[in-house]
Amino acid sequence: MLEKHDEEFMASCVVKFRAYPTIEQANILSRWIGCARVIYNCKVSEDNQNYSVFKSTGEKSSVHQAYSHFKTEERDWLNQCPSQILRNASSIWYTAKQRFFKGIAKNPRKKKKGIKDTVLLTNELFKFNDEISKEGVVLKKLIIGTKSKELGVLKFKAHREFGIPQQIVIGKKNNKWFVSFCYEVEDIGKSEQDLLDEYSLLDAESLNELTVGIDRGIVIPFQTSNKLSYDFDDKSKNKIKLKQRKFKKYQRKLSRQKKGSNCRNKTKIKIAKIHSKISNIRHDFCHKFSHSIVNSDAKIFAVEDLKLKNMTKSPKPKQDVNGKYLPNMRKAKAGLNRELLSKGLAKTIEFLEYKAKKYGKLVVKVSPHYSSQECANCGHTHAENRKTQDNFLCLLCGNHDNADINAAKIIAKRGVQFLLSKPKAKTRTRLGTSRSKAGRGISKTKLEQSNPLIPITSEACSL
Ligand SMILES: [Zn+2]
Repeated sequence: MLEKHDEEFMASCVVKFRAYPTIEQANILSRWIGCARVIYNCKVSEDNQNYSVFKSTGEKSSVHQAYSHFKTEERDWLNQCPSQILRNASSIWYTAKQRFFKGIAKNPRKKKKGIKDTVLLTNELFKFNDEISKEGVVLKKLIIGTKSKELGVLKFKAHREFGIPQQIVIGKKNNKWFVSFCYEVEDIGKSEQDLLDEYSLLDAESLNELTVGIDRGIVIPFQTSNKLSYDFDDKSKNKIKLKQRKFKKYQRKLSRQKKGSNCRNKTKIKIAKIHSKISNIRHDFCHKFSHSIVNSDAKIFAVEDLKLKNMTKSPKPKQDVNGKYLPNMRKAKAGLNRELLSKGLAKTIEFLEYKAKKYGKLVVKVSPHYSSQECANCGHTHAENRKTQDNFLCLLCGNHDNADINAAKIIAKRGVQFLLSKPKAKTRTRLGTSRSKAGRGISKTKLEQSNPLIPITSEACSL
């Protein structure tokens, strides 16, 4: 994913590679992850305590990053972990707390083992060394640890080129290890604002030619206005079905097993594996679709601005005047939600956005209201226009089309209208080559996300 930085024309790329630690290395890394989690959780409980003291006595205590007082005798195993890791954990908590104070995030809560098992390593804890292979290719070796606490060379599979990062995250999910980081590259692409300015100068005819509308749905995940539909292939569909059947089987098994037993834990691992396999198939589809559509001739992609998070909320309980609960179709809605989320509709648009930017193409989000009921030919909007799932028949002009294609056409039309209604940029001499301030702008939240570590105060170091 690409993100913009404020100061220079730099963009940052995020990569995630599969890592292959030895058994010994995996044990040490698991311990490091555990130590970081302990410090983070200690900071959370300390903060909760401070808050209850404040509530009862009104006495305020400062919020700081100090952590060395958690290194008690009972926790002497913390000394086996490089101190930088403990410091980073405390720093991550501090950043999270500051985000809470600013109202952009929830109050940090305790982390659980097995959920997002990661450890952050700053650049004093790792280095990339160049190594020339037999074929003469320069490979980068990742060496982890400090002089006294060495981990050695961590094997990882780099499926693409990368730059040197300032910090890396090592994580474990379903017994698979990953190393992920973000590095800076010179940004030669145009900003979103530049593209928007450039395309809004075009006339309606050229815009119609360049724009493709994409309708997202449950039956056909993606339907474009130029009559191409994208769906999972039969092989993937069958695979998902098979995995889902297995998933249900193991879930039933799990419910019968005794809590905390070894057998139950084994079943849990099996369920997690099936889950990640299904999610990999979907992830792959999202990448394939976004890749193929970005590589088409179209330059502008119009999509509906769907709020999937709101759409997939469970319905509120219904009560009559006497307080008796009425049916609220919760189960039916849950099924619909599952279907909506299972197609990766939101993720694909995220992928599409960053891939489009790379190729100098634009994604515009348009209002989704009544897009399935409006006629692409005459604009007549009526619920009766769409009588069945597939067929669209306009009651006014008699236009007959596939309902999804009609909706995609409406979305494309709205995208064109949006660009035509944009105020034109006047001061440009060469289109899109100069950068506007607005294009470079980045919200504070994003900046913080890309750099979770903040400088350690002298107060924390002296403790
Ligand atoms: Zn019509």
